[in-house]
Amino acid sequence: MVRKAIYPGSFDPITFGHLDIIHRAANLFDHVYVAVLHNTQKQALFTVDERLEMMKASVTAENVTCEVFEGLAVEYAQRRAAIAMVRGLRAVSDFEAELKMATANRHLNADIEMIYLMTSSEHSFLSSSIVKEVASLGGNVDGWVPAPVSARLKEKFSRKEGRKSP
Ligand code: ADP
Repeated sequence: MVRKAIYPGSFDPITFGHLDIIHRAANLFDHVYVAVLHNTQKQALFTVDERLEMMKASVTAENVTCEVFEGLAVEYAQRRAAIAMVRGLRAVSDFEAELKMATANRHLNADIEMIYLMTSSEHSFLSSSIVKEVASLGGNVDGWVPAPVSARLKEKFSRKEGRKSP
């Protein structure tokens, strides 16, 4: 039996925290589908295509596929014949949100097991939001995101900066 898992998220943009979870999940499962959620209700900095492109440029594991999905994550997992959904946990606040999501997911499909990987200590503070905030203020985010993401952030914010100036 080929054991497959999905790792869904916004990944706006992907960080070293996400990559750590991806590589650890890839060691646990035969195949991992890292999936960018196409969520029209959530305001994102990057388009799904940009997020996918940055992800593909950053993930090196051979047993990982990066793609976009729409709709319910449990249904997406079923389409990929995955037995588990991986998520990362940082603070207690993550736990609360994840517990709600796990309960809802179990209600929708009890066959998909939720797997939580604890953040590595060096990534415990790291989030896509902090990366965007620091980058928007011109701070250096090279230690937090892969090079293709850092380049995209610089491009994005220098363009915005350019638009603002008279
Ligand atoms: P969401 O899917 O909630 O919009 P993200 O796309 O940022 O959030 O993250 C996807 C998953 O990765 C979530 O389970 C989140 O908790 C986890 N994650 C994000 N950053 C880190 C990190 N630094 N360490 C471990 N897990 C993380």
